[in-house]
Amino acid sequence: MQLRCPYCSEMGGLNVTHSHMVATHHDLLRTETDSESGKMYYVVPCPLCGLSYRHRVKPRNRNPRFLSEFRKEIALVAFDQMLYHVVHEHPDAVGVKVDELRSE
Ligand SMILES: [Zn+2]
Ligand SMILES: [Zn+2]
Repeated sequence: MQLRCPYCSEMGGLNVTHSHMVATHHDLLRTETDSESGKMYYVVPCPLCGLSYRHRVKPRNRNPRFLSEFRKEIALVAFDQMLYHVVHEHPDAVGVKVDELRSE
């Protein structure tokens, strides 16, 4: 299955596009800590519908530098979610046919 990167239209398979997004578009990933609860989140924008995906990050320990130290790992998860989102919500826009999804 081939698809287009939703941020810049580069073509590739799922894994290639995932690595490409992490390597090329990691500055789009934002991380934030709620000052009251101390809960951590990552936010990644969908360029196709304007939705921002906000998910809770649950570190295994209470490391206040978690978000900066584990940025790469967070990016891997965040762009994986975004890839899933665009493939299922915007298949036409990323060049995926719905029958290709069913067969995988
Ligand atoms: Zn791209
Ligand atoms: Zn979207």
